[in-house]
Amino acid sequence: MDIAANIASLRERIAAASARAGRDPASVTLMAVSKNQPPDAVRAALDAGLMCFGENRVQEAKAKIPLCPNRAQWQMIGHLQSNKCRDAVALFSMIQSVDSLALALELNQQCEKAAKTMPILLEVNVAGEGTKFGYGPAALLAEFGELSKLPRLEIHGLMTIAPYTPTPERVRPVFHRLCELKAECEQLLGAPLPQLSMGMSGDFEVAIEEGATLVRIGTALFGARPRRAESVAE
Ligand SMILES: *Cc1c(COP(=O)(O)O)cnc(C)c1O
Repeated sequence: MDIAANIASLRERIAAASARAGRDPASVTLMAVSKNQPPDAVRAALDAGLMCFGENRVQEAKAKIPLCPNRAQWQMIGHLQSNKCRDAVALFSMIQSVDSLALALELNQQCEKAAKTMPILLEVNVAGEGTKFGYGPAALLAEFGELSKLPRLEIHGLMTIAPYTPTPERVRPVFHRLCELKAECEQLLGAPLPQLSMGMSGDFEVAIEEGATLVRIGTALFGARPRRAESVAE
């Protein structure tokens, strides 16, 4: 697996998609999704110039992060349970998967205890899939005011996982809608929200055309994911 070559190819595709949308490719962050990947893979991605890593399970991140070079920055991208908030606040520099007011309140409290402020994204289940976590659009707008008042959380924007499809063009409306929802939240907040985390290996180019500022890439970077148990002993 030549991670450096994969990054070069991803950078070219990010640049081409940015150009199609009249955007600066530097406005798109390439996040390496390292879930189920061993520390060696993280090290290789760091050596090839990536800084930002995404994990979807607190337990796995807790075991893996101490084994990786400490220049890596870690973000939580998976569903977070309330009883894992304390660890999450200690481990991550951003939590992209805030999907309820109850979770936000618990995170706010843990940040208070740790004397920290946590940048967060609100996860939106744009397509309303029953199998996915995330705010429905109406609930997001209804709770946004309360979320934005929590003193220890800084809302930086929105995140979504589009439905899986072999034809990425089909999920363009999902990305377009997330971008519109960000504008609606900005109206409520009276301030800009800089981040739109959307796009994965199969659909990141369409996401960039629709305004993604951060794409979360696993398979196209590291190759097929090992099964969980092969990653880090827990
Ligand atoms: C696994 C995962 C990704 C990366 O998926 P790939 O298709 O392997 O690029 C992105 N975002 C989230 C939230 C994930 O869980």
